[in-house]
Amino acid sequence: MPNPTIVSDFRAGLASGKLLIQKCGDCGEVNMWPRYACPHCQSENLGWQEANGKGTLHSFCVLRQGAPEGFEEDLPYAIGVVKLEEGVQLAVRLVPDASEDWSSYQCDDQVEFVGKESGRECASFRRVGG
Ligand SMILES: [Zn+2]
Repeated sequence: MPNPTIVSDFRAGLASGKLLIQKCGDCGEVNMWPRYACPHCQSENLGWQEANGKGTLHSFCVLRQGAPEGFEEDLPYAIGVVKLEEGVQLAVRLVPDASEDWSSYQCDDQVEFVGKESGRECASFRRVGG
């Protein structure tokens, strides 16, 4: 599968257990997902910083059937949108809770980065304290 330059650093970070977010070298603002130009000042001087991995679960859904083509074998799985403490949001996979389900998850839960666990090129998060 092609690995576009704009996400290769992010994916390399995931592979080594780091959650990287894009940071502008000129205005200092962070943004996600990766862009070719800073959405705040249009600079192309973009780099990366490691996020602290803590955030709030903005929304999520559990897929039990009807996965998009190519994702059928992942079922069931949960996708969430997490707002990181750094202020940016990204789509993540959610780790099942102790009951091997996602029934304990609620919007606004505090969640934390746990690495790349799904076999997909995305970050996995779990509830804090549960
Ligand atoms: Zn900028």
